[in-house]
Amino acid sequence: MKIAVLVKEVPDAAVEKRLDPNTKRIDRSGEKNLNPFDTHAIEAAVQIREGGAQVDEIVAVTMGPESASNALNKAASLGADRSVQLTDDALAGSDVWATGYALAKTLEAEAPDLVLLGQQSDDGENYTIGAVVADHLKMPSLTQVIDLKLDGDTLTLERQAEYGYDTVKVTLPAVISVGDAINEPRYPSLKAIMGAKKKPRDTKAIGDVGIDAGEVGEAGSKTTVLAINPPPAKESGELIENADDDVDGTVERIVAFLDERKLI
Ligand SMILES: Cc1cc2nc3c(=O)[nH]c(=O)nc-3n(C[C@H](O)[C@H](O)[C@H](O)COP(=O)(O)OP(=O)(O)OC[C@H]3O[C@@H](n4cnc5c(N)ncnc54)[C@H](O)[C@@H]3O)c2cc1C
Repeated sequence: MKIAVLVKEVPDAAVEKRLDPNTKRIDRSGEKNLNPFDTHAIEAAVQIREGGAQVDEIVAVTMGPESASNALNKAASLGADRSVQLTDDALAGSDVWATGYALAKTLEAEAPDLVLLGQQSDDGENYTIGAVVADHLKMPSLTQVIDLKLDGDTLTLERQAEYGYDTVKVTLPAVISVGDAINEPRYPSLKAIMGAKKKPRDTKAIGDVGIDAGEVGEAGSKTTVLAINPPPAKESGELIENADDDVDGTVERIVAFLDERKLI
């Protein structure tokens, strides 16, 4: 079987999130990294192989600018055998719909049996790409998966939900986004890091995978960001001082403060 893992390059978590007031998009300049949520999806693919399933290939797929090749190198060091980078100026400004369509067209050309994703990207945090990709590919979509067992072409999954857990069976092919509770991604060995750059990489432009230029980029997107506003500044907290060493009185005031706000 072939497993495709969708991976994304995102601004490093240590960099403060910024919005570009001119483009109204996330400012993605500065230090970047592989989306940490995607490391769980790669680890899940590797564990399916290590569990004894016949996995012929694990392919990491990304849509992103030239720099996104670093995220693919990281994915390769974590266990992907090969990678595909969809990169084209026409893709800049794509929203969730256009990104999902472009990724689905790229995946169509790969014909995977299983598509794995992270639960969210660390920058956009839309949690939706899995569903959009599945819709285009006409495959079942399951989200927040925290356990999966493969038996032939059937996956038995546990989904985390507000009320507990769903146990679901699904027949491949399918698109599964994994929750970060599914596993503990391994650290790549030095040998794996050194070997990653030598693994095969295909670079695709939109024409190579049959993407309609009118359906991607800012013009092809279905949403428009009208305005961006910074979050309101946090109000300063209330300082309760232990005046005159009156510990009992101070504790009473703290308890009353918490009680008023139904925090205790
Ligand atoms: C108006 C607008 C303009 C935008 N312009 C740009 C732009 O110019 N450049 C830009 O990079 N982004 C741009 N984006 C954001 C980009 O389209 C988002 O990456 C996309 O909408 C997916 O949302 P998300 O990253 O929050 O994914 P989520 O749904 O939160 O991510 C879930 C999972 O999907 C997978 N995934 C998500 N994105 C990708 C990807 N690109 N490649 C591979 N796997 C992926 C990962 O596995 C991830 O864990 C724009 C968004 C909007 C609304």
